[in-house]
Amino acid sequence: MTNHGHYRLSDAGKTVMVQGFVQKKRNLGQLLFIDLRDRTGIIQLAFDADHPLRSEAESLKNESVISATGTIVERSSKNPSIPTGEIELSIDALTVHSKAEQPPMLIQDETDALEETRLKYRYLDLRRPVLQNNLIIRHKIMQAVRSFLNPTGFLEIETPILTRSTPEGARDYVVPSRLYDGDFYALPQSPQIFKQLLMVGGLEKYYQIAKCFRDEDLRKDRQPEFTQIDIETAFLSEDDITAMAEGLVRHIFKEAGEPLADSPFQRLTYLEAMSQYGSDKPDLRFGLTLNDYASLLGDIPLDFIQGKKIKGIHVEGENTALTRKVLDGFKDLIADLNVAFSFIKKEDALSGSLVKHLSDAQSDAINQTLNAGDTLILAIGEKADTALGRIRLALRDQLDLVHDAPHAAAIITDWPMFEYDEETARYYATHHPFTLPKGDLKAIQNHPETLMSHAYDVVINGHEVGGGSLRIHDAQIQEAVFEHLGLSLDEAKERFGFFLDAMRYGVPPHGGIAFGLDRLTMILAHTDNIRDVIAFPKTSSAQDLMSEAPGPISNIQKKELHLK
Ligand code: ASP
Repeated sequence: MTNHGHYRLSDAGKTVMVQGFVQKKRNLGQLLFIDLRDRTGIIQLAFDADHPLRSEAESLKNESVISATGTIVERSSKNPSIPTGEIELSIDALTVHSKAEQPPMLIQDETDALEETRLKYRYLDLRRPVLQNNLIIRHKIMQAVRSFLNPTGFLEIETPILTRSTPEGARDYVVPSRLYDGDFYALPQSPQIFKQLLMVGGLEKYYQIAKCFRDEDLRKDRQPEFTQIDIETAFLSEDDITAMAEGLVRHIFKEAGEPLADSPFQRLTYLEAMSQYGSDKPDLRFGLTLNDYASLLGDIPLDFIQGKKIKGIHVEGENTALTRKVLDGFKDLIADLNVAFSFIKKEDALSGSLVKHLSDAQSDAINQTLNAGDTLILAIGEKADTALGRIRLALRDQLDLVHDAPHAAAIITDWPMFEYDEETARYYATHHPFTLPKGDLKAIQNHPETLMSHAYDVVINGHEVGGGSLRIHDAQIQEAVFEHLGLSLDEAKERFGFFLDAMRYGVPPHGGIAFGLDRLTMILAHTDNIRDVIAFPKTSSAQDLMSEAPGPISNIQKKELHLK
């Protein structure tokens, strides 16, 4: 491999061959310089006026691919802004491998190209060091997964891409079958069923860096195909699995050069996370936790307050960034939640729309709680926690609270087994229907919303980076869960018959987890654009602008696939 970015003044006198792309030329009359770029950096090639290769060098366009042999020498005018800035190469031989046309974009970290252009010419975009570095981080994460799991008996096993619908709850991508008229394969939303069947198959410890496909409306951090670090184990307890997950995440961050603090990941139940942070994926890099103000303010004689849930965030100190306008703007963030919003500021006196309704005792108590300059942000109503969770993140950004803060990881446990969807008037599995319920299954009939589960998420800096659960390994419990989800035994058999069959032949207790490789890479590459960490990504409208996928197929193909 070429590695000319690593040469230093201590290499002076060595004769070396360098290869790469012409980044730029500078013609100073007497001297001609070429900056040559490879994956490791830039090196300067020098040609003087009567150099035999001078005119050939002068004719080279940017991005042409060349090899050159020469001697490393000390530069007369040094450039401290690049690592090789003290040296240059005095050239003896030059080979032009491929001449480049004028590229349609500027190939450097700070490019002015639109993202559309960058995606259409992704092979040029990939030449930019910033993208190469992201792919190096991604590579390191994948290798770290293997070097962590292999020594403890995990086997890397592939599962099919052409398969049947899997139950992660998103829309499937489907592939028409040529041999079976009217039948379709589905692409896996995850290897979930297969990895469980590997446990039934006695493999005990499985992992895979697996492609998953979900045909969902895309967001900034979603792609139609994405990669999971997928893991399943037999006979391990929930604590064993979450400890393994913590160890793996630590190893990944260490190998990527950003080791996490020694203190164990904070563990919170779902209910604790919701009531303290207003989120099931709390950002623990900063405080501003939610407190209950019902006992203090609950008897304010106003209809929208009495008997309601009242939660608040106490923001300490004078904050020029927290203007009245900013505070009022928080209302828009929670407009869909049916929650009343208010705030009390303490300047010389208390101010805010609630202040005139406070009793003397309440005013005294608030005056005791708040110091001059403090603000108490209040949300009132059933979904007060969720509302303040959103406001808490807006405060983080507005007050710049996590700039350079160390990564903060948490494990969120004890998730509700089911969630109710008002629109479709039915229950859905919060994680997925194979998750093992916790405690008394009878709750399914009477109070399904109180039934908790052995599910867990790994959260870093407020992002869900992984999620998993112990699985049901008893056919009766599995059938009860399907039934509660409105899936009759017949329908369940029709969709997962092979899986239910497998449960009749001895199933080890098992559980696992899947991490989002893209998301982990985004955190370690410090980007919030998922396309920055995937070599050939799709746009936010699910197109590959370079290969122009999706695209039409020929009539012959359509006919073979029985498509009209
Ligand atoms: N298959 C699950 C998911 O994709 C992860 C797991 O339960 O292991 O979220």
